[in-house]
Amino acid sequence: MRFHVLTLFPEMVMDGLNTSIIGRAIQNGKIELEAVNIRDFATNKHMKVDDYPYGGGAGMVMQAEPVYLAYQSVAEQISSPRVIYLTPQGSVFNQRMAEDLSKEEDLIFLCGHYEGIDERVLEMIVTDHVSIGDYVLTGGELPAMVMIDTISRLVDGVLHNDDSAKYESFAENRLEYPQYTRPEEFMGRKVPEVLLSGNHAKIAEWREEESLKRTRERRPDLL
Ligand code: SAM
Repeated sequence: MRFHVLTLFPEMVMDGLNTSIIGRAIQNGKIELEAVNIRDFATNKHMKVDDYPYGGGAGMVMQAEPVYLAYQSVAEQISSPRVIYLTPQGSVFNQRMAEDLSKEEDLIFLCGHYEGIDERVLEMIVTDHVSIGDYVLTGGELPAMVMIDTISRLVDGVLHNDDSAKYESFAENRLEYPQYTRPEEFMGRKVPEVLLSGNHAKIAEWREEESLKRTRERRPDLL
């Protein structure tokens, strides 16, 4: 799986994803990540990539041309690329969307900044408009990182134990059961007896019940 991120802040994306499980997956070649600096495609001598909005109003808008050229530099190596524009105006990202996107070989993420990007280039290149929630961030870099982290966990070989993605929250529309580790007792609170019993059928039954109970309490909308 190859991720290509079009951004004005490539170091933010590279630094943000280069640690822990995702950093290891990049080093082991399970996933590839490149951040393309849109500013490198500015065609004026000040390397300016934004301008005032037509019709007036607050802030600046990213210009169409550098975004298009940055896109072209990546897209010419890929046949029919899927281009995700991170925007608060998109469909809200979820695990099902991550599963769908994890089947692609290449994904291009387009990060806006300031007031956003000139609509004309969005009409020309974007295939998916995706939001990470109903709030407004300063840029698309954090949303792109959130999506790349989530999708990468579904790529074969990224997690040591592939089962951990299968039985997690949102698989089968449930939240995961509570987890415990050593010691058996912490400040007077004991690990549930059943988890120490070694009886795998009983443990599975307990986990199933806890998962349902937790989902009913915290996210009844999932059921
Ligand atoms: N003026 C835009 C609007 O009202 O819809 C918001 C622009 S926002 C300040 C700048 C950039 O941050 C957007 O172009 C987008 O790439 C990114 N962004 C902000 N909030 C986001 C969210 N919830 N999900 C995904 N991307 C977001």
